[in-house]
Amino acid sequence: MSLQLHYGASLAALNTLRVPAWAGLLAQPDAIEQLPDLFAAARAQKLPWLVIGEGSNLLLAADFEGLVVQPRLLGIRLAMNDPAGHAPPAGDRVRVRAGAGENWHRFVQWTLDRGLFGLENLALIPGSVGAAPVQNIGAYGVELSDHLAAVEAFDCQHGGSHRFSAADCGFGYRDSRFKREPDRWLITAVEFDLSRSPAPVLAYAGLREELAAGGIGDPQPADVFDAVCAIRRRKLPDPAQVANAGSFFKNPIVPELQAAFIADHHPDLPMWPAGEGRNKLSAAWLIERSGLKGHRVGDAGISERHALVMVNHGSASGEELLALARHVQDTVEARFGVALEPEPRIITGAG
Ligand SMILES: Cc1cc2nc3c(=O)[nH]c(=O)nc-3n(C[C@H](O)[C@H](O)[C@H](O)COP(=O)(O)OP(=O)(O)OC[C@H]3O[C@@H](n4cnc5c(N)ncnc54)[C@H](O)[C@@H]3O)c2cc1C
Repeated sequence: MSLQLHYGASLAALNTLRVPAWAGLLAQPDAIEQLPDLFAAARAQKLPWLVIGEGSNLLLAADFEGLVVQPRLLGIRLAMNDPAGHAPPAGDRVRVRAGAGENWHRFVQWTLDRGLFGLENLALIPGSVGAAPVQNIGAYGVELSDHLAAVEAFDCQHGGSHRFSAADCGFGYRDSRFKREPDRWLITAVEFDLSRSPAPVLAYAGLREELAAGGIGDPQPADVFDAVCAIRRRKLPDPAQVANAGSFFKNPIVPELQAAFIADHHPDLPMWPAGEGRNKLSAAWLIERSGLKGHRVGDAGISERHALVMVNHGSASGEELLALARHVQDTVEARFGVALEPEPRIITGAG
């Protein structure tokens, strides 16, 4: 049960941009019981902390001279009893619980293998189960919040475990209370309500086309899973081959009037209604039209395959990648008057 602390630990293998940053201390707890003492000691020593998963949504632009905590809390099981005493989900709904340290894609595979449906559109998203609620991961017409039942988290600032219902999580587009309160909560487990009845979500045009091209007329969840994996492997650079952190910018949401003004000059601008007189624009389109697709400064670059993806071609530092991200923001703002917001968490030091 005793927890090993690694002093002066390299984080190079713990972030998918493969930035060569260092942590003052690294802890990888594998039991919830280890958390109270760990954080009480950090608070007593006024040591800042950073919770990470698999580092696929992080830009380490500096060393972190505090405590980096990577939870390795494992286990996936059917959850029959709600500790708050609520009735388990009814009908063909099944509640599944996964530890924060489980790999997200392997968890999705686990659910499908057992005939539990709902998460198939979220296949192959890198990272851990524990990080998935932080930015309410989403892809191909489905968001995590569509199926999430509860999040359990340790309060790093005050101690003690809390259980959040989906409504308590304050989910939005790539957003949640956990993202808005960084370093307060360490998510320990996540529960989902899944269905035994297939109900494929095929709203995303590219997904329908992929299935049609494969001659699949009545797609089942396993077909959707395979199609999503095939599209992702084709479109996105694999972090194992080319270091990257996925989409580096969120799709910006702007007032309808501003979107209409840009579309007047650029009729091919992709946009979608985003509620209350607002439109969501394609950040990839804005970056490509700013001439930055494939742009490279040293080893820091914008992918040639996907304008939203920033890549480390070899030995780019976190600072160099951050400078490139700022260049992209400045160029898009100057050209279109639209501010791009980074999606990954950017670490510029401890504290
Ligand atoms: C090739 C590629 C494709 C991607 N595609 C998508 C996509 O389609 N959709 C999408 O939404 N995202 C996508 N991402 C982003 C990324 O996969 C997700 O954000 C993922 O959930 C990050 O998981 P992680 O374990 O790597 O988290 P990390 O990068 O380690 O951390 C991300 C954030 O979560 C916090 N965090 C991590 N673990 C915990 C925990 N247990 N408790 C509390 N806070 C925690 C960290 O402090 C940080 O703020 C992609 C990334 C890559 C590299």
